Amino acid sequence: SIKGQYGKHFAFYDDKLRDTLLHRQAITDGMERALASGQFEVYLQPKFRIADGSLSGAEALVRWNHPEWGLQPPSEFIPLFERNGFITRLDQYVWEQACSLMRRWDLMGFPHIDVSVNVSRTDIRDMDMARVLGGLVERYGLDPSRLHLEITESACKDSADQLVETLHRLRKMGFVIEMDDFGSGYSSLNMLTEMPLDVLKLDMKFIQTEVANPSGDSILGFIVSLARWMELSVVAEGVETREQLERLQADGCDYAQGYFLARPMPVKALEELLASPPGCER
Ligand code: C2E
Ligand code: MG
Ligand code: MG
Ligand code: MG
Repeated sequence: SIKGQYGKHFAFYDDKLRDTLLHRQAITDGMERALASGQFEVYLQPKFRIADGSLSGAEALVRWNHPEWGLQPPSEFIPLFERNGFITRLDQYVWEQACSLMRRWDLMGFPHIDVSVNVSRTDIRDMDMARVLGGLVERYGLDPSRLHLEITESACKDSADQLVETLHRLRKMGFVIEMDDFGSGYSSLNMLTEMPLDVLKLDMKFIQTEVANPSGDSILGFIVSLARWMELSVVAEGVETREQLERLQADGCDYAQGYFLARPMPVKALEELLASPPGCER
């Protein structure tokens, strides 16, 4: 019957909704304890200098090592934390881990490695980032230029004034500002001139489209020239094939990050890589 059919559908949606709400509630209930008990783990994805294949730094990417659900990717919890405000706490934790690691690597004899951390738009809105980050580099005795701050394009959509002001301040303090996921959707050339930036980080979709369309004109080449002219360096993320890497090299891109070179890995694995650098060549 029609009623039966609809009944089934409603039951289906009800279950789904309830599961989502329960899941959300479980995340909210567990997040404080998770932070206190070290369930959030910073993974590091190496970044390589294309010219010589050397390891120049790493991006800090958080995972939640959940006792029941296993290792959770950021997509499972970051959007919720951005809405409930917990992201500011988690990001401070990740940034501190990044600083503490760089300090440790200094002592291990690798003072040239920098770390990129992700910054949520909630952080910019709700946190005194200059105070927090200034405190961290001071406490760990680091040159601020080793901490790279990745801001996504979408963060530039709203609260643009506050964002520009905050970034100017951080940049003056010596932090390196990167525009993350450039080319993923919200980008405009306007934004490039308004934001105080040091690095353009090209979204992986951008590279994939570029290599899939091997026509004469290279948007990639154009973006790299534009970046040069604006005195920005260029990082390509999501490099998955040798072909993509070669194309990036031909177009003069500075740094590459992606599964073809190395996946995000636990701290210990990155430290092993530091001790025996294989570089870009595979
Ligand atoms: P993102 O900052 O753009 O990071 C790049 C994402 O692409 C990472 O996903 C990385 O694992 C993935 N990736 C790297 N190379 C490749 C590749 O060759 N192919 C493919 N398909 N993917 C690649 P992940 O770790 O799942 O993080 C997703 C997003 O979550 C990040 O995107 C970032 O926006 C956010 N995120 C991660 N950690 C943090 C954090 O500590 N704080 C904040 N606020 N956001 C974070
Ligand atoms: Mg990023
Ligand atoms: Mg990105
Ligand atoms: Mg991304």
